[in-house]
Amino acid sequence: MFQRVRLRLSALLVLLFLALYALTSILIYSLSAQLMISSVDGVMEATAQPLVEEVSSSLNQGQFPSEFVTLTKLSSLYPKVSAIIFRDAIGEEIASTNPKINHLPYQFKHSKNFQTIYHSINKVHYRVLTDRIMNPYGQTEGYLQIALNINHDLNGLHRLYEVLWIVAIAGTFLAAIAGLYMSKLSLQPVVRSWNQQQQFVADASHELRTPLTVIQLNLEVINSDLNKTIGDNSEWLSVIQKETDRLRRLTQDLLTLARIGSSSGLVRFQAVNLLEILMSVVNSHQIIAEAKGIKLSVTACPQNEADQLMYVTRGDQDRLYQLFTILIDNAIKYTEQGEVHAQLEKKKNHYDFTVRDTGIGIAESQIDHVFDRFYRTDSARVRESGGSGLGLAIAKFIVEAHEGKITVQSTEGIGTEFVIQLPER
Ligand code: ADP
Repeated sequence: MFQRVRLRLSALLVLLFLALYALTSILIYSLSAQLMISSVDGVMEATAQPLVEEVSSSLNQGQFPSEFVTLTKLSSLYPKVSAIIFRDAIGEEIASTNPKINHLPYQFKHSKNFQTIYHSINKVHYRVLTDRIMNPYGQTEGYLQIALNINHDLNGLHRLYEVLWIVAIAGTFLAAIAGLYMSKLSLQPVVRSWNQQQQFVADASHELRTPLTVIQLNLEVINSDLNKTIGDNSEWLSVIQKETDRLRRLTQDLLTLARIGSSSGLVRFQAVNLLEILMSVVNSHQIIAEAKGIKLSVTACPQNEADQLMYVTRGDQDRLYQLFTILIDNAIKYTEQGEVHAQLEKKKNHYDFTVRDTGIGIAESQIDHVFDRFYRTDSARVRESGGSGLGLAIAKFIVEAHEGKITVQSTEGIGTEFVIQLPER
């Protein structure tokens, strides 16, 4: 699927390059051609003007041009010019500095005009200026034509044309390679997140299937003997209840992850008191900790009444409650005996929230994965707990949404410590 997108992106880049290049090339070529023609025309005009003036003034004195404008003089005067031709009023050639350039096509107009013509016999391109010579009564006495060999200039233009084509071919090739490379680079995060999404859907389906299968099996047992009372089936019913509860928590976690991951779940910042949130989480977990014989304690630094305001910052009340709950809940869940201690500290520009326990700990090889979605370490205690492996992934999302950091340190059999750094806002 991504291969096709990659090819399409590259093709688009090549097309874009070609369009831009064609536009620039056309501009460069036509500008160069225009410059070349106008410089040639400039030379011819500069040559023609004094000549026409000279011829006109001699005509005014009743003399015919050929009698005083000698061809050799003209040739030496204007060496750059290929030919200077005089024609009479009906266009017949009177004199020419270059007899080789005969039968030069010409256009007689009222004013002077420029033409580019190809002399097939000489195999030369000429730029020809034809200017009208008039007597004082406004009658046409003849025509002066100046021809300039522009083969050299046209060759230059032709070379430019060739270079532009070569660059177009090489550029297309390079643009295709660059397009393939760049599309690969730019698609990498998309491919990664697509794969993650696929993995997530597969993991989620697997997680949902397990409790559903258990529920179905237990219902089948109940259905197999309809004469039994509810009391007789209490064992199966309690399994169903446990699995239903697990399903509820799982779907809730999945929803939280989806919300946080999408724009609709963006955290809503408001003024919150971190210590108040922490105390309410700790209070609601006291009873669970006591039931397990674990001591759940909390310290806040500084702690006196006047400094309570120090814990007021901006954050999402519900998400922060959820974050503290996940960490304290896990600490109690994965601790068999000893204590769970939560600590909130106000530092210069941030808050440090630490949860320390004397629980089962996490093996060094697994510690890097605990924030991955659906990841559970493979200890027997963890399997018993029936967790979904989404808690810490959600915790990490919440911390990152608050632009904070979460780290974990643990020693197997000794205990675990999670530290969260939340910037002050
Ligand atoms: P779960 O719902 O399984 O607790 P979490 O994402 O909250 O999922 O945690 C992922 C895994 O990290 C847990 O399954 C457990 O193996 C490990 N873990 C998390 N917190 C602790 C802790 N305080 N002590 C030991 N292991 C922990």
